[in-house]
Amino acid sequence: MKQFNFHEAKSVKEAVKAASKNSAFLSGGQTLIPSMKLRLSSFSDVINVKNIKDLQGIKVSGKSVKIGAATKHAEVASSKDVKKAIPALAALAGGIGDMQVRNKGTLGGSIANNDPSACYPSACIALNAVIHTSNRKIDAEKFFKGMFETALKKDELVTAVEFTIPEKSAYIKIPNPASRYALVGVFLAKYKKETICAVTGAQPVVFRSKEIEKALNNNFDPNSLNDLNLKSNEMNADIHASAEYRASLVVTAAQKAVINCK
Ligand SMILES: Cc1cc2nc3c(=O)[nH]c(=O)nc-3n(C[C@H](O)[C@H](O)[C@H](O)COP(=O)(O)OP(=O)(O)OC[C@H]3O[C@@H](n4cnc5c(N)ncnc54)[C@H](O)[C@@H]3O)c2cc1C
Repeated sequence: MKQFNFHEAKSVKEAVKAASKNSAFLSGGQTLIPSMKLRLSSFSDVINVKNIKDLQGIKVSGKSVKIGAATKHAEVASSKDVKKAIPALAALAGGIGDMQVRNKGTLGGSIANNDPSACYPSACIALNAVIHTSNRKIDAEKFFKGMFETALKKDELVTAVEFTIPEKSAYIKIPNPASRYALVGVFLAKYKKETICAVTGAQPVVFRSKEIEKALNNNFDPNSLNDLNLKSNEMNADIHASAEYRASLVVTAAQKAVINCK
């Protein structure tokens, strides 16, 4: 029998007050619940944050799209505002897992968990996102620290993520055939002055491919990447894809992203 105190937080303040060294916030529960069930983790207190009003909703302003941390992937995927402002972000959310995962899983849970194969971290990096938390704002570049590791403190709650609207963008994922997580995922965002290429699934944590960015900043054309061979020594390797295969997939996905950029 697993025992813990369950808290139904009605506000950000209540959630943070209930947090301790041995607590966990519960949002969509798609990762937290299975890991507790399998006894991979245990907590004295579980704090439900998914019904907090301030963590809901999508707001589009002139330059950015701000999405509440408890907003579900399905809501982002079907939002007319997101589809209009950053179509690639809506498409990314619509390609996460399966229908059940998308109807439960949330943006805040995804980035707080920082799975090396998760899709959203690449969007956060490429779209120069600012992560709003219960007590500060963190640039995405400083948020994703390592495998399943972020800049969050134990009692710090992600409240929203603010994405910059680029001129155009695309997200290309080569999905694991079983889980649908990214074997490799490339989020490309084109701005007036530069192109950002963020890669997930390929290394222990999301990263920017400076080689791809350099080639595309010179000439925004898929053929600019034809002769690019990325080093494979830092790439992930597992039963699904070798490091060399992943290195090659990153380039192929980036070429497809250039073609699909809108
Ligand atoms: C079968 C399956 C397939 C999946 N496929 C994909 C995929 O293709 N792409 C992809 O990107 N993801 C995928 N996921 C991940 C999924 O979409 C969820 O985003 C992820 O499981 C975590 O989100 P959640 O809302 O369920 O968080 P939870 O499970 O509730 O929480 C996860 C972690 O984040 C913490 N947390 C939650 N909310 C906050 C907050 N607001 N502030 C601070 N900490 C918080 C929790 O304490 C916990 O440590 C998949 C999951 C499953 C089960």
